[in-house]
Amino acid sequence: MKDTTNRRSALLKASGIAVAAASFAGCGTASQQPARGSREIFPLKTTTIPIANTDAVFPVRRIYCIGRNYRAHAIEMGSNPDREPPFFFQKPSDAIQFVPPGSISDHPYPSLTKNYHYEVELVVALHKGGKNIPTDRALDCVFGYAVGLDMTRRDLQRAMGDQKKPWEIGKSFDSSAPVGPLHPLASLVGGHFQKGEISLSVNGQTKQKADLNMMIWSVAEQISNLSQAFELHPGDIIYSGTPENVGPVVPGDVIACHIAGLPSLSVRIV
Ligand code: MN
Repeated sequence: MKDTTNRRSALLKASGIAVAAASFAGCGTASQQPARGSREIFPLKTTTIPIANTDAVFPVRRIYCIGRNYRAHAIEMGSNPDREPPFFFQKPSDAIQFVPPGSISDHPYPSLTKNYHYEVELVVALHKGGKNIPTDRALDCVFGYAVGLDMTRRDLQRAMGDQKKPWEIGKSFDSSAPVGPLHPLASLVGGHFQKGEISLSVNGQTKQKADLNMMIWSVAEQISNLSQAFELHPGDIIYSGTPENVGPVVPGDVIACHIAGLPSLSVRIV
């Protein structure tokens, strides 16, 4: 939740006792709830992703994204895929743009960039979390999967990288995380997505095409690795990386994303 910091500081002012009690209980999510009797001064919307074929929604806590997780994409970004440990960045949870299947949603061309890139990715949603989760138990945390786009202001990302500054402005802007409905694991005949085609076209022309089995770090390894750096929680989602041949779009372009076994996701840049 993007309001965690604000709520925590409000809590600290309002009720030091409540915060201390929650901390002793070791209950990270409980400490984010308003203390009893306190009153939020304005409503804050929780980001959710609809769950396919139900009226239920998945509340989004954090969006993690892995960088350079397909060999050929790592090479096109100028890094060595054999040597580098995984690395992650975050987008704010309200960067989600839900894209219903069977439609083409308008996606706003963002400010400040002249080189706006697509990255098609398998999105993994967690309903369990923890710290130091072993790889062989990591998939137990997975609620389901969706198709997503990690939209990127590439010129700004590169400029910041060149200056050894954070990528934030290139990756973590409004509407930068289009995503389709979540498909619960229980509804997936093929089980976890460990192989299968992932592709993206622009105006009907194929741009990205690879197989999920070409990830450098598997979904289980990503969850395990992330959980060493951050305690994971229900509601966290992970963008699991993009294959090679990322590229630019301009207003009027239509991006269509496909992952075998999931409905396509399409957006029109406006
Ligand atoms: Mn990406």
